[in-house]
Order: sequence, then C-alpha cells, then structure tokens
Amino acid sequence: MKLYSTKNKKNKVSLAHAVLKGLPEDNGLYMPDSFQPLPHNFIKNIKDYSFQEISHIVAKTLIQSTIPEKDLKDIIYESINFPAPLIQFDQEKYILELFHGPSLAFKDFGARFMARLMSYFNKNNDKELVILVATSGDTGGAVAAGFYNTPGIKVVILYPSGKVSHLQEQQLTTLGNNITALEVQGTFDECHSKTSIFR
Ligand SMILES: *Cc1c(COP(=O)(O)O)cnc(C)c1O
Repeated sequence: MKLYSTKNKKNKVSLAHAVLKGLPEDNGLYMPDSFQPLPHNFIKNIKDYSFQEISHIVAKTLIQSTIPEKDLKDIIYESINFPAPLIQFDQEKYILELFHGPSLAFKDFGARFMARLMSYFNKNNDKELVILVATSGDTGGAVAAGFYNTPGIKVVILYPSGKVSHLQEQQLTTLGNNITALEVQGTFDECHSKTSIFR
C-alpha cells in the first residue's frame, strides 16, 4: 500500500514515510491509494473472531505486506489491549463503548496504534522524533498516554488555556518524562496554527 496527499494524488509515499511525517508538505492529508476487500469468509464468520483478531485482519488487509505479519500482529495486540463492548440499551438500540482505554477517549485506539507504528518505523533511526499536537482535550490525552515512555519519541502538546476539562488537563500535564504540555493563551485553532510554525 502507498498513500497519496489529498491535495495532490500524484504525491505518493510509503506507509513509513506517512507515519513518520504525519502531514504532507502541501498540507493535505494522507490517504491509502487502494483498499483491498476483507476476506469473504472472515465477514461471514466474524462472530467467531476476538476483537484483537478482527483488528489484526483489518490492519493486515489494509496495509498489506508493508509490515511483516508477525510484527504487525505484535503491534496490534499491544495497541488493542482493552475491550470495546457492545451494550444493549433497549430493544432496538445498542451502544458501542469506546471509552475503556487509558485516556477514556475513543482516540486511544488510533493513538496507541500510531505510537507503536511510529516506534517500529523509527527503531533504526538515532534521531529523536518530536510529535506536536494541538488539542482541546481528547487527542492530547490519548497521544500522551499512547506515547508515554516510548524510546526515541518526544511529545509536545499545545492546549488552549481554560478550554480543556480538569481531568483532561491533568492527563496532559502530569505524565512528564517524554511528554511536555504547553498551555496557550488562545483558542484551539490558535494552538493548531502554532503547530505549523514549529513544523
Ligand atoms: C479528535 C477530534 C477532534 C479534536 O479533538 P480534541 O479534543 O481537540 O483533541 C475534533 N474532531 C474530531 C472528529 C475528532 O475526532
């Protein structure tokens, strides 16, 4: 699988490049250039698979052979290590609970996967990676928890003063080590525009 920039479909990069770079130079977003269909038998028998097995098959089908099977499996099993239970609400409605990860935000799924992918692609690089995040709470908390103590990776989080819940501010500011949080006198959008200055 390759990824293209939504601002220029001809600008294609590898998964490693997209993961380590985050955003294309032209400020588009990276998108996979192809989606393989999930195996028919898997869909038919999906009830028999665990949540981790489903995550593994979906990831494997999406990213193809870019990462060796065994390595991808380890990454998925470490990332998806908490449940997403489907709770019956009434006769017709069910709720998929996505808040059982370390930061209680649904972004834990993506952030944990991203953290492990990044350190996988960065493991032979002796330069430290710095990840800049702008957040009004959810992204910062999940990224902080996901990357906490990851060797070779530092996280700097910009958050708007007074516009983040107390619990989430604690998630951003109390981990320490490789996680630094900066309180910005301004809005989320101003935090976001500052990330491009630093880049
Ligand atoms: C994560 C996310 C945001 C930003 O959330 P923050 O709490 O500011 O980190 C905004 N919109 C969507 C759809 C998101 O998934």
